[in-house]
Formats: sequence, C-alpha cells, structure tokens
Amino acid sequence: MILVRTLLWVAAWGVIATMIGVLHSAAAAPWVFSAGLVGLLAVHVGYLARLNHWAGLPRQRDLPVGIGGWGGVLERLGRYMRAEAVERGETAAELERLHAAVDLLPDGLVVLDRYDHVQWSNRTAQQLHGIFGRRRPIDHFIRQPEFLAYLQSADFGRPIVLSLPDAPGRRYALRIVPTVDAYRLLITHDVTDTERLDEVRRDFVANVSHEIRTPLTVVSGFVETLLEMDLPADERRRCLEMVQRQTATMQRLVEDLLTLASLEDALKPTELQPVDVVLLLQHLAADTRALSAGRHVIEVRTESAATLLAAPQELDSAVRNLLTNAVRYTPEGGRITVAWQVIDAEGTLWVRDTGIGIAPEHLPRLTERFYRVDRGRSRATGGTGLGLAIVKHVAQRHQARLDVESRIGVGSTFTLRFPASRLGSRPVDRSETVTA
Ligand code: ADP
Repeated sequence: MILVRTLLWVAAWGVIATMIGVLHSAAAAPWVFSAGLVGLLAVHVGYLARLNHWAGLPRQRDLPVGIGGWGGVLERLGRYMRAEAVERGETAAELERLHAAVDLLPDGLVVLDRYDHVQWSNRTAQQLHGIFGRRRPIDHFIRQPEFLAYLQSADFGRPIVLSLPDAPGRRYALRIVPTVDAYRLLITHDVTDTERLDEVRRDFVANVSHEIRTPLTVVSGFVETLLEMDLPADERRRCLEMVQRQTATMQRLVEDLLTLASLEDALKPTELQPVDVVLLLQHLAADTRALSAGRHVIEVRTESAATLLAAPQELDSAVRNLLTNAVRYTPEGGRITVAWQVIDAEGTLWVRDTGIGIAPEHLPRLTERFYRVDRGRSRATGGTGLGLAIVKHVAQRHQARLDVESRIGVGSTFTLRFPASRLGSRPVDRSETVTA
C-alpha cells in the first residue's frame, strides 16, 4: 500500500515537474522533480526516526500519528499493539488465577530447575519446607539424608515418606516428577491419615485372625479326637457340644463383624422411623429373661411414652448388646434394669446391672474393637469383643452420647442420650413403670 502510494506520489510529482518544464523553463523541471523526491525521502526518514524513537520508549506510550501511507501503517501497528496488550493482560490474569488455585492445594508443589534450585513453590510447600526467596537450592530447605539420596537417584518411581521438622506428628510422601527441559516438580503429600488407616486395618485383620484361630483350633482338636478315638457315647457327646459352642462363637463373631461393617458404611443411610421404645424394651427384656434363665432379676422402667426417631434394627442391636453384657457380667442373683426416660429434654435409655463392674482405667477404651477387660471371662461367656463398638456406632449414627458409669463389685450403668429433636409423642400417654 505504502509502495503504491509512493509510486503514485512520484508519478504525480513527475507530471507537475514536466508541466512546470513546459510552461516555464525546461531546465527547472529536473530540479523541481528532485526537490519533490528529496521532500518525499525526508518525510519517510522522519517517520522512521520517530518510529525508532517510539520503539525505545516504555511500551505504554502512544504511537506517532501518521499521514499518507504512514497513516495506515501506524494505525495497523497501533491495533496490533492494543490486541497484544489485551492478550498479555489476559494471560497475566490467567496465570495469577492458576497460582492462586495451586496455592490452595493441600499438597506442596515446588518447581525445580536443572540444578535443583527452587524456581517456584506454592504456599503449602513454603509452609511445610520453610521455603523463602527464589533460586535457592532445595537442599537448603529439606536436609534429610533420605531426601538428598532420593534427589540424587534417578529412580523417582516411588515417593519417599518422611517426617518434616515444621510439621511434627505428621508424615509426608515426597515425590519428584520430571517435567520438560530438565525441570522437575517436587510434590509433598500428607499421608498421616492413610498410614493410620493402614495400621488400623492391619491390626483389625490380625485381631480377627486371632479371634477365629482360637475356636478353630479347639474345633479341629475335638474333630481329630472324634475321628481317631473310639469314645464312649457320653464322651462323644461332650466333644460335640464343645464343637457346637465354638462354632456358635465363630458365627457370632462373623455376625458382629457384618453388623459393624454395615454401621461403618458412611454411604449407607440410616432409615429412620418413630420407634415405640416402651414396646421395644418389653420385647428385649423378655429375650433377656430367656438368656438369663432365671439367674437374674430383670426390670423394665419406662417413665416416658415418647417415641424415638431411629433405625429400629440398629436400636434393637445396641440395647440387645447392652442387656446381653449385663447378663454375662452379672453374677447369679444380680439385678438388671433397663429404662427409658426424658431427662433435660433428652431421650435417655439406660441399662444398669449389679455385676462385676469395670475399673476406671478401662472405661475410655471399652468401645474399641476387641478391647476386653478380662479376655478369659469374655471368651468363657461367648463374647466377641465387638458389642460395645456396635453400641458406639449406633449412638454416633443417631447423634446420641454413650456414657458409662461403673464401680468394681457394685455394677455398671450404660446410658444412651438422644437429642430432643429425635423425640416424638404417642397419641395416648402411656407413662408407666413396668416392673418384672
Ligand atoms: P465382649 O464381647 O468381650 O463383652 P464388648 O465390646 O461387649 O465385648 O465389651 C467390652 C468389654 O467391656 C468386655 O470384655 C468387658 O470386659 C467389659 N464390659 C462390657 N459390659 C460390661 C458390664 N455390663 N459389666 C462389666 N464389664 C463389662
């Protein structure tokens, strides 16, 4: 465009110079034409000089205004500069958003250059490793020999797990991921909870195996005796009864494990409905009497007619476990009471016995899976060590508290306190005390 305009300008000036030559003097024509060319050159050189001056200025300065062919050139250049500025602004904003998001990641991220100097780090990495400034070697901040050896090794397939001085009590997996141009990414991930869970799982599997092995050993011993020896009928019967008792223990264990697994399934919703607690306790007391077979006095006190919004099966399972324990840990002639009251607006369900009691140091651990005060006694009475863990989970799923009060040789009281929001009223007030 500028070329065409220049050629047109030269041609027009040539015509003017020729006309001056024809009208005035022929000798003046080349001078007039040359003067025009010099003028044109001066304009172009002037614009080039201004453009050169502008290029040396800070970027935000406006472009010089152009005339003729330069007008179009400078306008296009201006448009390009404005578009580029907008794009640069958008890229900067996007980068800022990305940094802000990466800063919020719970994992630490560090970009290392080919010399393992910190190029960039997010906030988590700065807090965990105490990183500050830029371009400092990473081994200024992470000094553990295991990490230094890992950094030098070429094998980054697996992370290394470390404790960090700035985060006591927690464990972190550090992994290096090679990226482009010999740059590397150091990712720090908190594995404390995963490690704890792994430990709990390992302990649990070991406990279950141990619980099953004991009755299994007894069963296989008796079966071997029965196969190899020709025992008299009453001896045979005694052996088979033993086998039956042990298989019943294993069966109870499996049932309790399944109950616990379903209670621990956070995704399984608790199907709630108003439960007639009075009726439930009367049924459970009848079953408990059958279990006790007349060895204990069993009493039901229902001082409230309120219904409880609960999962009926879960509630049944929790109270049944408490009543079964009361029978198992209360010597013959003792008294067992199960009660339903509203105290301070809370639905209060308690089971009290006059049994052997529990020493205070055991109370905080009672609801742990497989925790027993007296292993021998628990086994002898067919315990699985899971009863109170089940009760605790049922309580949690109903936003209830489980309190235990106990005195050695006097007895124990296990109390479930349900929030007022779970209580409902029955159409007929049946406040009553049923004693059996
Ligand atoms: P277990 O099957 O062994 O009874 P639980 O989880 O039901 O397991 O109870 C844990 C432990 O708490 C029991 O082993 C026992 O030592 C103690 N315990 C539970 N209930 C009572 C109670 N009513 N009286 C005395 N001790 C109890």
